[in-house]
Amino acid sequence: MAASDFRLLIEEEENGKFAVVLRRSDGTEERLPAATPAADLIAATEIDYTDYRRGIKRLWDEHPLFEERIDVSVSDFYDLVCKIRSLPSMLREIDPVSFYFLEESLPKSCLEEDDGSASFLLYAGANLLHILEKPIRVQTLLRNIFEMTFDKMEHATQGERLEKLRRVYPDIAEACNPARLNDIPEGGRSFMVFSLLDLRLLELTLYFQQDRQRIARCEYCWGYFIPKTKKLTLYCDRVTDGYRCKDRGSRFSRNRKKEQDEALLICDQMRDRMYERFLRYQDAAPSERGGLLPMDHDQYNAWSENARLVCCR
Ligand SMILES: [Zn+2]
Repeated sequence: MAASDFRLLIEEEENGKFAVVLRRSDGTEERLPAATPAADLIAATEIDYTDYRRGIKRLWDEHPLFEERIDVSVSDFYDLVCKIRSLPSMLREIDPVSFYFLEESLPKSCLEEDDGSASFLLYAGANLLHILEKPIRVQTLLRNIFEMTFDKMEHATQGERLEKLRRVYPDIAEACNPARLNDIPEGGRSFMVFSLLDLRLLELTLYFQQDRQRIARCEYCWGYFIPKTKKLTLYCDRVTDGYRCKDRGSRFSRNRKKEQDEALLICDQMRDRMYERFLRYQDAAPSERGGLLPMDHDQYNAWSENARLVCCR
């Protein structure tokens, strides 16, 4: 199959903002609105892939190509390819970078190297689905990095956040070490990256290089946000059920008793454990999931939301 033509140009603009430029293989170019690394990273953790993910899961679970049988038909394979090609458009509005990645990475012709065997068709079909899953996998890793780096770290410095990340993911922390950029003078910089993950790692590096903005986690809704001042900020401005977290959160912490603090601690520990379970399940091959407690994205999100409501009442 053809190698991916995917590449992204990241250009520095003013006020700490960077613009992502998509250069398509057909010669056209699109410049996305500039954002700070912190803002773009938070936005990337919040992209809602629910429908897209279900579309992929349906193909794994229900498409006849993956049914257990002796013969694998070429027409089933082509049918799968048609269905796969219809999925990226779901991301066009909500995630233009991944839409571009899929446009450039899904092979234009899928049977160039067909050796005619059933295993080739199965392998090629599974490979295409893995490409489709890439944006979701990168988001999961990014969310995990966020959990490790920004949860309860509002008191910390940028260096301490990077250090905490290093304890869990030394390789990723090394890839995000701002010292790597020391030789490149700031202002008017441009970078080229060749994968979705590299884009996020570059943004993390640029994020750790500055301290004008920091990423905090709201203690009420568990969402990430950028505090507007240097002052310690525990709650965000999001509105949930008619109230801003900021308004509800301060009342919530004022009235909080010792038992509630203990409940919150247990809730945090459980969340970490559930998150680990979810990651283990997600990273295991289907054949290795037998001994694991099932926990997919939807189940984890539902659990997390319920826990938040119970703990933060
Ligand atoms: Zn909040």
